[in-house]
Amino acid sequence: MKTTLESPKMNLTPRLTDSIQYVKGVGPKRAELFKKLNILTVEDALTHLPRRYEDRGNFKKISQIKYGEIETISGIVKAAGINITSRKRMKIFELVVGDGTGIITAKWFNQPYMKNVFKVGQKVILNGKVKMNSYYGYGAEIDSPEYEIIDDEADVLLHTGRIVPIYPETSGLSSRQIRVIMKNIFDTYLSEIKDHLPADILEHNKLIPLSTTFSEVHFPQMEKDMALLNSGRSEMYRRLAFDEFFFLELGLALRKKDMEKEKRDALKINGELLRQLINSLSFKLTSAQVRVIDEIKNDLISPHPMNRLIQGDVGCGKTIVALSAMLMAIENGLQTVIMVPTEILAEQHYFNIKSLISKLSLKIVLLTSSRKDKEDIKAVEDGNANIVIGTHALIQDDIRFKMLGLAVVDEQHKFGVMQRGALKKKGYNPDILIMTATPIPRTLAMSVYGDLDISVIDELPPGRTPIKTLKFYKSHRLEAFKLVKKELSNGRQCYIIYPLIEESEKVDLKAATEMAEHLKKDIFPEYNLGLLHGRMKTEEKEKVMKDFKEGRTNILVSTTVIEVGIDVPNASVMLIEHAERFGLAQLHQLRGRVGRGQYQSCCLLMAEYPLSDDAKRRLDIMIKTNNGFDIAEEDLNIRGPGEFFGTKQSGLPELKNANILRDVKILEAARREAFELIKKDSLLSMPEHNGLKTILRQRWLEKLELGTIS
Ligand code: ADP
Ligand code: MG
Repeated sequence: MKTTLESPKMNLTPRLTDSIQYVKGVGPKRAELFKKLNILTVEDALTHLPRRYEDRGNFKKISQIKYGEIETISGIVKAAGINITSRKRMKIFELVVGDGTGIITAKWFNQPYMKNVFKVGQKVILNGKVKMNSYYGYGAEIDSPEYEIIDDEADVLLHTGRIVPIYPETSGLSSRQIRVIMKNIFDTYLSEIKDHLPADILEHNKLIPLSTTFSEVHFPQMEKDMALLNSGRSEMYRRLAFDEFFFLELGLALRKKDMEKEKRDALKINGELLRQLINSLSFKLTSAQVRVIDEIKNDLISPHPMNRLIQGDVGCGKTIVALSAMLMAIENGLQTVIMVPTEILAEQHYFNIKSLISKLSLKIVLLTSSRKDKEDIKAVEDGNANIVIGTHALIQDDIRFKMLGLAVVDEQHKFGVMQRGALKKKGYNPDILIMTATPIPRTLAMSVYGDLDISVIDELPPGRTPIKTLKFYKSHRLEAFKLVKKELSNGRQCYIIYPLIEESEKVDLKAATEMAEHLKKDIFPEYNLGLLHGRMKTEEKEKVMKDFKEGRTNILVSTTVIEVGIDVPNASVMLIEHAERFGLAQLHQLRGRVGRGQYQSCCLLMAEYPLSDDAKRRLDIMIKTNNGFDIAEEDLNIRGPGEFFGTKQSGLPELKNANILRDVKILEAARREAFELIKKDSLLSMPEHNGLKTILRQRWLEKLELGTIS
């Protein structure tokens, strides 16, 4: 029988939520190291998955290893010492290891302290890329191999003779040590690993039990396929990914259910205001726009608040769709708001919508931190303002509406899904319409924004010609200017964009201003040039944009303030300086400012050499395609799901091991099961779902306002 060590926990039942500190072999000092790996509890340790596995079941004989291959060998230290190269005066620590069939030399460069690590006669394991011994010109050598010293024969079976996990490590905590502690965890906690997923879900999805999953992850015995293990596609990984997704989706399903229970008076819509708007437009709505407006109308005439996400590529015309929804709410005597992440975006929408509704005798106000007119605030408070446009922080914190009926949230990504909660806390329960310009594959969108209904505008207004995109290095900038001049001489207009990074806003602004001067004097003396940046007053900006729109200026030098909204069909070139500094979504948005008229347009990406790998990938995909879906997908690939979806800000539980891209099939299955389960037991009140409820609360913490189950 196993004896428990003396420990503060000895009288208590072991629980997976126990601090890692109380696991045999850890203690306060090592607990600090575990913290660096984000491991606070026993459960965190169990889900600390190996970064790779090593097959130490049958080590290669040294006589059989091949040059150029990554090999693992085991042997005895025959000699160890430091050599100094005569040429570079580099200290090289050399270790000679033999296994009875041959010897191999391991080398560490300029790490003389390595001599304290090894002793002649020790049993060691080395892993690394084998090459020919560079000194002798024959025999095998491994440079800076991963190594393990087997000093305790009792431990040998843990570290050799099987497939062994190699973990993410931190200084002072090696894979070898983690393995020993993992073994101690299993000795104490194995019986505590209980399956919380209902048996039928496990069965449908052919999922292996959780206790098997953990023991197989850390001590693989069944799965021998190294390639499968190392690609994160083993049965164990599938089970763990399923679990993470399942609890994400379960939370979303519950939230959706909660929202569906909410009531408000159904709107009555005769559509008079909407008709007036549509009649005043110089274009016809696309059928996708008409369809989405219809979907929104159906939400509004239902007795439950709307929670809808509109997805659509840059330039597909989301603003008109949002405005249509707003007009239907206004017709019912309600106020409406558009919330955006930046002041600039707010101004763009304001100018845009003001001109769209100029014939409708409605009151529209702009509220940003630099423009907070007392009169305007009063109009919002006493209900006279029909449309309010502003930054989300301002609207959430400072403003009180008389009767807010519909909130439009533009640029969902920068916001997060918890927006609604913030408005509700202020006592409003408006219809919510979220717009995102970053199109993501529909299945992904459904899963990540799983509590929202989704509409897709999958059509661009007719007559848009695909934009040609070219990359120039700074040394070739005159060629780029030549292209610009050619367009200008044909009567077209041009944008020249400067990046503006928040930390160095002042410096960049100076650069942009100086560049505008330089362009005016030296490059385009025969043309009129306007300058637009975020520090200008709202009225100044309006004037500069108007001058450009009406053709009084030929070139608009601008910071990214023109990212959205501006619409000048005669502009056919966009030159983006320091294109390597921009994110993909932003580049795509910017480029969407040209190609709006009948003219062939082009986008010139000016880049500073050398480019980082990521920057190169970003520019390459821009050159390759105009398609927002393809661009979003590459963006997701480059940045990874966490960054891309901004899960941190969004308030969704973080995914530790599941990967939205790699595991999309698993995500879909988990989502189906979660929504199915909530359909059957919408309060999670069946006794067999008790375990689920506990874990759900742990995972979502306070992030989920699950009125129903708490
Ligand atoms: P986004 O979806 O990127 O927000 P906008 O709403 O800013 O796009 O619309 C882009 C431009 O297309 C605007 O100038 C708008 O007036 C115009 N537009 C919108 N719908 C149509 C349409 N059906 N036909 C022609 N132009 C349209
Ligand atoms: Mg927009």
